[in-house]
Amino acid sequence: MISLHVPSRFRLLTRWIALVVFFCGAAGHGLAALGFDLTRDAKPACSIVVANQPSPSARLAALEIQSHVLKITGAELPIRSETDVVDGPRILVGESTRTRELGFRGTDFQPQEYLIAFRPKTVVLIGRDWEDTTANRKEDGRPMTGENLQDTRHRIQYATAAGTPVGGTEPIELPGLYDDQGTCLATYDFLERFCGVRWYGPNPLNVVLPKKASLSIRGSDIRRSPALKHRSALPGGSWPFLQNQWGQFTREQVLLHWRRTRQGGERWSANHTFYPRTIKARFNHPDYQPKNAGKHIGQLCYTNPRLVEEVVQTARDYFDSKGELPEGWKALGDYFALVPDDTLHLCNCDACKAARKPGTDRKTGFFSDGVISDYWFSFVNAVAREVRKTHPDKYIATLAYWSYALPPDFEIEPNVSVSPCLHTCYYPVHPGMTANDLQFYREWQGKTKAPMFLWVYYHHPMEPALISGFRCFPHVMVHQTADAMRMFLKDGIRGIFECGEQDQLEQYVMAKVWDDPATDVDAVIDEFFRSYFGRAGKPMKRFYLRLEEIACDPKNYPPPYLQTGGIDWKKVAWERLGTAERMEELGQLIGKAERLATTDEEKQRVAQWRKAFWNWMVEGREKAVAQKKPDGK
Ligand SMILES: [Zn+2]
Repeated sequence: MISLHVPSRFRLLTRWIALVVFFCGAAGHGLAALGFDLTRDAKPACSIVVANQPSPSARLAALEIQSHVLKITGAELPIRSETDVVDGPRILVGESTRTRELGFRGTDFQPQEYLIAFRPKTVVLIGRDWEDTTANRKEDGRPMTGENLQDTRHRIQYATAAGTPVGGTEPIELPGLYDDQGTCLATYDFLERFCGVRWYGPNPLNVVLPKKASLSIRGSDIRRSPALKHRSALPGGSWPFLQNQWGQFTREQVLLHWRRTRQGGERWSANHTFYPRTIKARFNHPDYQPKNAGKHIGQLCYTNPRLVEEVVQTARDYFDSKGELPEGWKALGDYFALVPDDTLHLCNCDACKAARKPGTDRKTGFFSDGVISDYWFSFVNAVAREVRKTHPDKYIATLAYWSYALPPDFEIEPNVSVSPCLHTCYYPVHPGMTANDLQFYREWQGKTKAPMFLWVYYHHPMEPALISGFRCFPHVMVHQTADAMRMFLKDGIRGIFECGEQDQLEQYVMAKVWDDPATDVDAVIDEFFRSYFGRAGKPMKRFYLRLEEIACDPKNYPPPYLQTGGIDWKKVAWERLGTAERMEELGQLIGKAERLATTDEEKQRVAQWRKAFWNWMVEGREKAVAQKKPDGK
């Protein structure tokens, strides 16, 4: 996709150089583009070759190539093992004796680094893969998305999920979200870049691919890795926009879609660890309970030295793989999380009160402030200092969130990995909240030495809409989302956890920018509307970008719709955003798209978007108008 926007003079020059090199016989490694036929006239022109015992990643990758090439061309490429005699051209998927003959081993690659290599009559798709060994199966960890690591190695019935006759009837285990799967990364990049496949959603109707009997490709070596190392955009399609845009889909299809959009990656976890359940199960000692704080369970006496010792021991046991980490904890890879409960029923013993001495309550007027920052980070520092003595290369992970969003007054231990929680969904329209967010984000950047991760909120306005039963205006902000993500990547952010769900296209664009911040967002948007809606693409694009213009214009959010701590999403939706005039304009675009849609696919996709956005809007506005009328009150 990047090559689309290389100025044409450069492109011609590159092609010319490639041709010269090719004809001079220096073909091969990296410079010259080698041709390769996958199929000819709907007949296989090559074989897929995997190891006799392929990694879970290579097993899935081989099936994905086979099923997508079948859908594109009607030809089923055979999957052979490394010991089979394969005469013709081959695609080597994952490490095998055949890749070792060419000098490629999975362990030669960095985690998440992968290679697409073109050799005479051979394409190699390889990277570092998690191997299914007893030792690897025993690894412990508790990600935010699952009960433990093993739960993230989801099992699916591949043929049903992929909508394909290949893959057999037995369920297969997908590569774990946080297991190395370089071969899959290589394969998905290969299918997109060279075969024209686009995964816009989990259902086969959401997948765009070309139809041709002969699939010939030409390319040169690509060795890279995704820019963002931990990628947790794992929407289930449970909110109305994404749910209806994706249409009919199963959980297994969603699990496969997460792999195709390269979610997962480096092991990291940071979420609530101290709350009533974990306190009752493990920290129920009377000395640990808050003093003079009423009966509410949720907080602890965080200055208690024995509590600190016990938490330190839990972290050490985890890093030493001693026993299973108790339920409720979050720890993955090199990160052990400490995050308090969302309650301010704090301990009032002398030591705890001293840690919250007057003058340390950094109030901002926003959700994110620093009222208990000194108190919380004293505890985090105390644990981190001790853990560092025995495990200098491991991290204590915590959030910069809510009443401990702002940095404390003192230094942070170098092994504390902080994850600011940022209200990204407010950035286009709430200057105050944006400034507050970016200020503490920058302060943390200057203050911490450990890798930094982020929580990004995409829960407004949909979450309050669902809770309070109103219809919000679609908060499309695809360009500003891409800008924010590029900034985070430039700042060296290592991983991002998305909280909430965006719409189908914004979700897709964000994943693309996470993979490569140089992604040309407008080109991706153009391609989506052209390829997904076909003849209806132009009005659908106009409709979508018009939603974005309206939703992202700060002038549409004057006070009292704009408040210090947020936005009156219910009122602003139909009094300021979805006005009668704009609804007329948007309705015409949807009508035009429906008239232009010709094929069944185009019609179904337009209908899904209509249901997701337009029906929701029409009903939302009607309800709001009815409530405003005197007799509707
Ligand atoms: Zn206390």
